[in-house]
Amino acid sequence: MSSKETHIHIDRLRDGEEEELACVLDPVFLDLKDDPDLSCTKPIDVSGATYIAGDFLIVELSCEVEFSIRCAVCSEMFPYIVTLDHVRFEKPLEEIRGKVFDFQDLLREEILVQIPHFALCGGYSCKNRKQVEKFLAKEKQEDVFRPFQDLLE
Ligand SMILES: [Zn+2]
Repeated sequence: MSSKETHIHIDRLRDGEEEELACVLDPVFLDLKDDPDLSCTKPIDVSGATYIAGDFLIVELSCEVEFSIRCAVCSEMFPYIVTLDHVRFEKPLEEIRGKVFDFQDLLREEILVQIPHFALCGGYSCKNRKQVEKFLAKEKQEDVFRPFQDLLE
């Protein structure tokens, strides 16, 4: 998909007028194809506004992104929603080359920074914790004997 929807032409904003932003982005831009623990398949509805304030381009964005993320305890994938609510970005105008600013990378970073490193399928805990603990306890027992067995053989 072309990234043109995320382009802001700052020449059109010269009057200090606010321009509405609205686009539907293919989740491909999140670049998660090689991530086995996180995926997003639904198109992302982005809305917001942009305007110039002094020497800065201001971009305000809102969106809701539905991910599928792996639980850190039981390894099951579960739905995880990231919401951006009027998140504000400021970009110095002098850093914008060619008078076109692409907010795609900013948006991607802002969305992915909300993804927890230690995601739990039950929110604050793992729903399958009891089963996992049973399984881990069993594994541990087996592990205790394995290395010694190797040495004796
Ligand atoms: Zn879990």
